[in-house]
Amino acid sequence: MSPDQLALPHIAKLHAYTPGLQPTESGWVKLNTNECPYPPSPRVADAVREELAGDGAALRLYPNPKSSPLRAAVAKLHARECPSLTEAHVCIGNGSDDILNLLIRAFCTQDAAAGFTLPSYSLYPVLVEIQDGRTQTIEFDRSMALPVERIAASTARAFFLTSPNAPTGVAFRNADLERVLASFKGLLVVDEAYAPFATENAVPLLARYPNLVIVRTLSKAHALAGIRVGYSLSHPAVTAVLDRVRDSYNVSRLSQAAALAAITDEAYYAGIIGRVKATRDHSIAGFAARGWFTYPSQSNFIFTEPRNARGERGPAVAKSAYDFLYAHKVLIRYFPSHALTAPFLRISVGTDREMQVLSETLDAWLKSPNA
Ligand SMILES: *Cc1c(COP(=O)(O)O)cnc(C)c1O
Repeated sequence: MSPDQLALPHIAKLHAYTPGLQPTESGWVKLNTNECPYPPSPRVADAVREELAGDGAALRLYPNPKSSPLRAAVAKLHARECPSLTEAHVCIGNGSDDILNLLIRAFCTQDAAAGFTLPSYSLYPVLVEIQDGRTQTIEFDRSMALPVERIAASTARAFFLTSPNAPTGVAFRNADLERVLASFKGLLVVDEAYAPFATENAVPLLARYPNLVIVRTLSKAHALAGIRVGYSLSHPAVTAVLDRVRDSYNVSRLSQAAALAAITDEAYYAGIIGRVKATRDHSIAGFAARGWFTYPSQSNFIFTEPRNARGERGPAVAKSAYDFLYAHKVLIRYFPSHALTAPFLRISVGTDREMQVLSETLDAWLKSPNA
């Protein structure tokens, strides 16, 4: 018997998450994983260097187990949107994927389903499969309007809602979330990975809804995907549950120092978030000028439905555009596995120059024989 056959049956048939490609050679225009095109605050590198002072002597020691200084800073930041928020409402994770995993480990199993919409962040079903749990899915229609009644009536123990949604970029209004929260009996987890690019977020609702959990990341707007820090905002009783389940030292010293420096440099991030939004809106206008439908994006990516030279659209057209861009070292994503996403391309917002290269390459695709 080969040793992998000793793995549990549900692990043996597990479909692992497929992350976006991370090419190691240079020369790519990388618009595929919604990273920030600008560097993090210069205070981040200073803070990491400080943590490494004296040839890294501090690295002998375990990090702060609860990431307490970071919890305090996160609470202070969001207390402006929800004044009752304290450190007891905050849990820090090794990326927000860690927080999502903790939520599923603590709240979901075979007879306590994890709910989510289709499409949404494709990591959720993988995390549920790892725990041998059960999923409940609710399909969007092409309008991508939130199916409020169906979510409110869901019997899931925890329902994961991505807002702004992935991969569409469409954000859901607090008024609609409140309609869900008014009758949904489980935990409503709002994954706000892209909220810094949106006009509204659910933080002000935390004071009134003890079953609301908000998940944030520093990977996108804060340009720190490589440092792996995310956090949850929730009722202190939910935070206590997450603290029981997580690794006792789940966030490294360097990550805690980097994240703390980043979230306290609000002026810097207001600047780069503003630039990303301006580039996004300019690029969406460019797609509209081509006659391509694009969902209204409140994120740092664009979900657009390409048309070929004959004005046709559909999965084959999207694949043709994707392949042409790939062959010309412009990396984006497309999601052929769902009928609502297959005719679309998901393009992370890069610098103005990168978006110019994208646009010129799409012009070349339209002139190519395959389009
Ligand atoms: C990128 C992303 C995450 C993952 O964030 P990390 O903090 O890097 O783990 C979580 N949720 C959604 C919807 C995302 O797009």
